[in-house]
Amino acid sequence: MQTLELKQILDAKQVLGMKMSELSSAKTRREDIAIEKTSEEMDAIQQSADRILALDSMTRRWETQTLVSEALQRIENNTYGICSDCEEAISPKRLAALPWAKFCIACQDARDTATAEMRWTDAA
Ligand SMILES: [Zn+2]
Repeated sequence: MQTLELKQILDAKQVLGMKMSELSSAKTRREDIAIEKTSEEMDAIQQSADRILALDSMTRRWETQTLVSEALQRIENNTYGICSDCEEAISPKRLAALPWAKFCIACQDARDTATAEMRWTDAA
């Protein structure tokens, strides 16, 4: 059921390796998340918004880094391109666009929907 060509796996490996070093070299600026004292209330609001953004991008980077390293692991284990949920092949087109994709489109959609619903429940 191997639908990926060796060339695509090698390309993916290269892209993943580059992404990995890009992510690990990006430093989080300390001042972005440091809590600063301020007398102005507007400043405080702005700063906390900035802090949320900084934390958000840090979380996203960490998540991507995890996905990238897992994808590299799957290449080593010869399971690259296989959905981690239903174990069907992930389409080569999807992998070309997102080399660290862990799930096929159907499983990813199901997860995104579940996550969105969870967020709504949290907000309520
Ligand atoms: Zn799947």
